[in-house]
Amino acid sequence: MNKINIGDIYGKWTVIGPPHRKGPTRAGRNHYCMCRCECGTEKEVSVQHLCSGTSVQCRSCGSKNAGAATMGIRHGEFPYLPKTLIERVRGAAWNAIYRCTDHENRKYQDYGGRGIEVRFLDVNEFVRHLLTLPGHDNPLLVLDRIDNNGHYEVGNLRYTTYSESSCNSRPKRSRYA
Ligand SMILES: [Zn+2]
Repeated sequence: MNKINIGDIYGKWTVIGPPHRKGPTRAGRNHYCMCRCECGTEKEVSVQHLCSGTSVQCRSCGSKNAGAATMGIRHGEFPYLPKTLIERVRGAAWNAIYRCTDHENRKYQDYGGRGIEVRFLDVNEFVRHLLTLPGHDNPLLVLDRIDNNGHYEVGNLRYTTYSESSCNSRPKRSRYA
């Protein structure tokens, strides 16, 4: 387990309490620590999720950011890019984060449930990386993992067409075929 200290910052979370075990059975117990989100919300967050970058903020900030209204990576950071483009890339990043972290997401089983992680510090780092990939500005292309068993991380991401993406998927997911 990674060492975690009070005052450490993970995305919008600041650690405000020491790690402790929590869970119904001895075997199922995970380490959690009390964290405060930028917005002031305090919540116990899984240490594993903090360290892997899969939890970067409270649920309320997550759903706010997923809406188009408050999207946009820090204002002015990419003044040369159209806002709609950044919103689309950011939306794809959030979708990936939700698929890997939100147990209630309908695709969780195929992502987080299989151990797939988003290995970026936070959504902004994720978006910044996506904006460096060829094809990010082509609305006909979709974000894809090169190795379908690999993580959302530098080196395993590309933009591709729906059909190429579905070839790379496991047979069950034939939605785009
Ligand atoms: Zn928050």
